[in-house]
Amino acid sequence: MNKKKLSIGFTAVLLVITIITLIPRKGTRLNEISGQTMGTIMYHVKVVGHPELDFEKSIDSLLVVFNQALSVYIPDSEISTFNQTGELSHPSELFTDVFERSQAVYERTDGAFDPTVGPLISIWGFGPDKTVIIPDSSIIDSVLLLVSMEKVDYENGLLTKDRNVQLDFGAIAKGQAVDEVGKWLERKGVQNYLVEIGGEVRCKGLNQDGRTWAIGIEDPTVSQFETRGLAIVNVQDRSLATSGNYRNYYKTEGQIYAHIIDPRTGYNARHNLLSASVFASDCMTADAFATAFMVLGLEESIQIVEDDSNLDAVFVFSSEGEIDVYVSTGITEIIELTETLAE
Ligand code: AMP
Ligand code: MG
Repeated sequence: MNKKKLSIGFTAVLLVITIITLIPRKGTRLNEISGQTMGTIMYHVKVVGHPELDFEKSIDSLLVVFNQALSVYIPDSEISTFNQTGELSHPSELFTDVFERSQAVYERTDGAFDPTVGPLISIWGFGPDKTVIIPDSSIIDSVLLLVSMEKVDYENGLLTKDRNVQLDFGAIAKGQAVDEVGKWLERKGVQNYLVEIGGEVRCKGLNQDGRTWAIGIEDPTVSQFETRGLAIVNVQDRSLATSGNYRNYYKTEGQIYAHIIDPRTGYNARHNLLSASVFASDCMTADAFATAFMVLGLEESIQIVEDDSNLDAVFVFSSEGEIDVYVSTGITEIIELTETLAE
């Protein structure tokens, strides 16, 4: 055997060994933790193997740091300070990451995703004060003047904004926190894991049985107090985030008002799209697009997803009184719809 052949053979053996050690053997121990973050949101982390890792404390403190940067409910957080003072010099990496991603999705969705939407959320009764008073159009028009990413500037390390403009990354923060936990696990050498915060998921590698992680998507048509599976997707090295108007809305005078607002009109996004489950390589991107798609509606969302190789989606929508599902071309092979929908 000549030297070259030998080295190719050796490399091949090494590669096989590496792949075998990366694939969890059947019955490998699963390390599971859960807790609460961002108020009352539950999180769950599954790590295959690594019994030596005491990751519970580290993940908790990582989430505390996260909230201290980005929670609008913490009065002295970085974002609250910016909202009060209108200026932030050299924001943290967490802040710049979410700001820059938000800006990109804002542009890609023609302003349907906009983290300055907070004042509109408040007047519709979805802010900290939950009093329901349907605002009249003059109030909406005056609040609309405060809403636009164009009113926030980031240049030479200095973030500034117009007075009264408020930033709130609530529509993307869960996804970003999921990524932060995932990246921390990867830095610790974990190759096979699943992180979930409030329904937003990121998974890497394989599960404890050496199979791809199977993630459920919920049926948005059941009542607020029930859950029913709509589909199972076998995901590898990808993230999933879901938005819908089915968990957070109120009904008054026969009309439904939901928590996702079109920042361009000031009114609730209202169309036949019931939920948007979005897949992307990172959870922050999936989370932002999921919210944006609930504003854009079915047709525009399908176009964006099919044009972008990083994105896939499952859209549940109503059509002539029936419930229908759109599955993007990139995931048709890895999705199993529940029986009622598969018919
Ligand atoms: P999600 O559950 O990720 O879809 O986020 C929904 C939350 O994002 C809402 O409760 C609002 O606080 C906020 N939000 C609503 N509409 C928008 C929008 N068009 N762009 C950005 N954030 C929004
Ligand atoms: Mg979202």
